[in-house]
Amino acid sequence: MSQSSAQQPRVDWTYEEIVLVCNAVVSNGWRAINNAADERVVELSRLLRQGSPVHAAASPKFRNPNGVKRKSNDIATAHPEYNGGQTKGGKTTADVVDAFISHPERMHELANAFRAAITDPEPLPSLPDVDEDATFEEGRTFERRHLARERNADSRRRRIQQARHDLGCVRCEACGFDFEAAYGHRGRDFIECHHRDPLSVTGPRKTALRDLALLCSNCHRMIHRYRPWLTVEELGALVSNGALRTRG
Ligand SMILES: [Zn+2]
Ligand SMILES: [Zn+2]
Repeated sequence: MSQSSAQQPRVDWTYEEIVLVCNAVVSNGWRAINNAADERVVELSRLLRQGSPVHAAASPKFRNPNGVKRKSNDIATAHPEYNGGQTKGGKTTADVVDAFISHPERMHELANAFRAAITDPEPLPSLPDVDEDATFEEGRTFERRHLARERNADSRRRRIQQARHDLGCVRCEACGFDFEAAYGHRGRDFIECHHRDPLSVTGPRKTALRDLALLCSNCHRMIHRYRPWLTVEELGALVSNGALRTRG
């Protein structure tokens, strides 16, 4: 099969990268772009390398046109109506293909948002209090930008004020946890903000307070743990079911 050189560590394709290549495959009528010299492949290679500067610096082969071409083939052959050889893409590839089939317009928008997150010259704010662990590894430019926006101190402060005004307290919208009720003064105003619409991170539009959900740290982590991200309501349903389970 493929002659992958042993000294090149394989870097798994991220959800964002697969969405970007799948968007090109869809534009090509769900056919692979089987030419590494094709300008769409060359441009995607440049974009993906720009999105993962650390990997790109480590290897000239990282997401090179040949790799993008192969990925476009994995994606095209993962389509359920594809007749031919076996599909080589993994679960994430299959998930992305399914999503493009069921929500083509939304996925096209998402691809544009991922592209903008890479090419937008606005610098990424530093994220001092974000785990730099496997969940948010280098290369997930879009995800990092999403989380950075959620940490905007000013919109967070205004959202907390709004909750105090409307509800008289600040609590998690998924599980109801109130840090002040649990920890006293030490927990006052301790809450995280979550963008209900991840696409809203792109473009000049200011974050509207109604787009921000207040979440405890656990619920916020759970929403972002796997793709696709859950909605606040979906997570709330999980929490309710969990409470029923543990009650026995
Ligand atoms: Zn919660
Ligand atoms: Zn969030």
